Amino acid sequence: MTLETYDYLDGNAAGGELSSIFAMDVTAAECQCAHCGASKRFAEAHLYMQAPGLVARCAVCDHVLLRLVSVRHRVVLDVRGMTYLSLDRT
Ligand SMILES: [Zn+2]
Repeated sequence: MTLETYDYLDGNAAGGELSSIFAMDVTAAECQCAHCGASKRFAEAHLYMQAPGLVARCAVCDHVLLRLVSVRHRVVLDVRGMTYLSLDRT
């Protein structure tokens, strides 16, 4: 099975899981892809929920931006696919 056959949601679908970690709304944040350099709102990322946990991929190049896995009482967050995450103070 190739990635093209997966259905994905937009980054807003990660809002619930991410709000359990971050006080600020990460889906509204701007992030830069570490692979292609595209800067976009996290909400524009392609979110795959069929994996163990969440996988957000760049809407431009499909590189993995963020992985979030919940295991028992621990949440593991891998954000190495992003150069930065820029949040607006409310
Ligand atoms: Zn990219």
